[in-house]
Amino acid sequence: MLQVFDARQLAHAPALELHNGAWVPHVDVPARAQSIADSVASFTPATDFGMAPLARVHTAEYLDFLATAHERWLAAGRTGDAIGYAWPVVARRSIPLDRIDGLLGRFSFDASTPISAGTWTSSYWAAQTALTALAPLLDGTQRTTFAICRPPGHHAGADYLGGYCYLNNAAIAARAAQDRGHARVAILDIDYHHGNGTQDIFYEDPTVLFASIHGDPVTDYPFFWGHADERGAGAGEGTTLNLPLPRGTTLAPYLAALDRALDAIKRFAPSLVIVSFGADTYEADPISHFKIATADYPTLARRIAGLGLPTLIVMEGGYDVGALGDNVRAFLSGF
Ligand SMILES: [Zn+2]
Repeated sequence: MLQVFDARQLAHAPALELHNGAWVPHVDVPARAQSIADSVASFTPATDFGMAPLARVHTAEYLDFLATAHERWLAAGRTGDAIGYAWPVVARRSIPLDRIDGLLGRFSFDASTPISAGTWTSSYWAAQTALTALAPLLDGTQRTTFAICRPPGHHAGADYLGGYCYLNNAAIAARAAQDRGHARVAILDIDYHHGNGTQDIFYEDPTVLFASIHGDPVTDYPFFWGHADERGAGAGEGTTLNLPLPRGTTLAPYLAALDRALDAIKRFAPSLVIVSFGADTYEADPISHFKIATADYPTLARRIAGLGLPTLIVMEGGYDVGALGDNVRAFLSGF
């Protein structure tokens, strides 16, 4: 199995996030990605596919903002990480904005996703990491590949960041696969948190199935999306499947939900699957609340492998750094 990791993803190092009413150390530390890279036998660095695949998913305005936001923050006389404090909750529209604080509000949806000096570099190479892992699936030389992406991507929409995510690596890979002849692509999101950005990008798109198993947004981030009645819209009605589960969910009910998601993928009949894999379903994850054990991950993976389809595994969350490498290795072993 080709495994792709690029050390330029370690440049992203936000200091603090606003969580539970306090500024706390940011949990997406560079050591996360490094611990995964250390746990795999070998990896290949990313190839540069340029900006075009990113622009298939993200707007030009957003990409320009993200690439320049930290410089603009410094130019405004600030220090440290760039973070917004005012968000357009209603009547959100495209209006000319100049001040960095306005732009941060326009292109983000939470206060847990600051932009550090290295954020653009790492986000860019996370997307390239996903594209590099996709390439051998497209030419048929591999059946399953693993992209060690950091920062993660599934909360990022076409024109917004949030949830530690800046560029949607899985969505960028899905569009790149479609551009290379995979007319129908399924994205299976098994991070603890709902992948609201991925859902949003493909919500009205009948050619990409988005199926997600996650902590119930009634109790868990991102709260506003991931509810069971969100099923897609317009031409994409029925190609979004949300399977929220309660805190404390153990392996058996999780597998029942996974079987439902896999059945939906079989009915959709894609030619390629992208798995947004978060190891934050792990029982000791510091910010999540399922009860999946390390020994459970091969079982999940074997069921997904049972689809028998070319599969790109894209790393999303997972914040117990001490157990992360073991959990990832256990998951990959099931393929
Ligand atoms: Zn997560």
